[in-house]
Amino acid sequence: MRSYKIAVLAGDGIGPEVTEQSLKVLTAAGRKFGFRLDIQEADFGGKAIDKFGLPLPESTLKICRESRAVLLGAVGGPKWDELPVEIRPEKGLLAIRKELGLYANLRPVSLPPSLSEISPLKPQLVEEGLNFIIVRELTGGLYFGQPRKRFEGPRGREAVDTLSYTEEEIRRIVTIAFQLAQQRRKKVTSVDKANVLESSRLWREITNEIAKAYPDVQLEHMYVDNCAMQLVRNPSQFDVIVTENMFGDILSDLAAMIGGSLGLLPSASLGTGRTSLYEPAHGSAPDIAGEGKANPIASILSAAMMLRFSCQEKEAAEAIEKAVEKVLNQGWKTADLAGKEEKYISTEEMGDKIAEAL
Ligand code: NAD
Repeated sequence: MRSYKIAVLAGDGIGPEVTEQSLKVLTAAGRKFGFRLDIQEADFGGKAIDKFGLPLPESTLKICRESRAVLLGAVGGPKWDELPVEIRPEKGLLAIRKELGLYANLRPVSLPPSLSEISPLKPQLVEEGLNFIIVRELTGGLYFGQPRKRFEGPRGREAVDTLSYTEEEIRRIVTIAFQLAQQRRKKVTSVDKANVLESSRLWREITNEIAKAYPDVQLEHMYVDNCAMQLVRNPSQFDVIVTENMFGDILSDLAAMIGGSLGLLPSASLGTGRTSLYEPAHGSAPDIAGEGKANPIASILSAAMMLRFSCQEKEAAEAIEKAVEKVLNQGWKTADLAGKEEKYISTEEMGDKIAEAL
């Protein structure tokens, strides 16, 4: 039987609750499609701070490095908010991304037509649902470029950050976008600010070069300010959006909002090594932890992405995505999706329904 080694870092707050549902659905998928997961759980985030004094212990990192994929819940919470920044749970997130060399963040936004009313956009803009994916570069650009400093200049205090990209950094992320588009609706929107920024002009040049190898994929370039407008005005025009780190940071949060609920949004981070990381886009939601109110779908869809990208179990991934859509179309909702007077089901019940639908 095919077997895959997976590290599970359930983390804090609602992390363990939603991850438990993902494992339930993954087990059901394995039974149906003939594979098994060799799961190793490890401490991460606040839980690891309590035990070892730091958010990403060496033992956890070792388990991750030896695994094909990491399935992460969420970290953080008020208990650890007063700690120095270097040992806060969130520091573990940055550390694990760096240690695993994760440079591509994939954030699909999909909202079935049956749930279009939860999007803050006008009904006519989302009546056919939403289905696009943002591919964000994670390790370059303004957040990491050198020099980066504050200093005393002739006109007083000054600060500098540097937006730099190498050819290779652009090439590898844009290639991922084209490969993804080939499996989807075959359209890539490359987002830049090439009317102003030199790094964007290089981005555009390399993207055009890569496009030649994918004649079946339509490429369009869009300025980032226009893209922000278009996401709100006509989001269904997009299939795959690819962009640099800071633009992606901002656009992915905008996209998360138009998707209606954080509880529906999965993510994948792919890298240079063999281990990729999969996690819901939301945090540990301490305000609802332990109440059975968390929506497990973001985590379950992250697990589906894991099967697709890290285990090549494409059929099983699609089956999970279809099961989620079916359950939502049947009208089942967790608290975050339900209106004020509407009934809702618990985290565990949602997990059960999706596993059954499989
Ligand atoms: P959050 O994403 O945890 O919560 C924001 C709001 O969305 C809350 O009202 C919460 O109840 C709701 N929500 C989030 N996920 C939900 C789900 N699955 N189902 C239903 N409702 C959901 O963001 P926050 O409140 O800003 O942060 C809480 C903690 O999480 C902080 O310590 C923060 O640092 C941490 N955080 C962790 C990650 C991560 O682990 N990747 C990401 C963001 C924030």
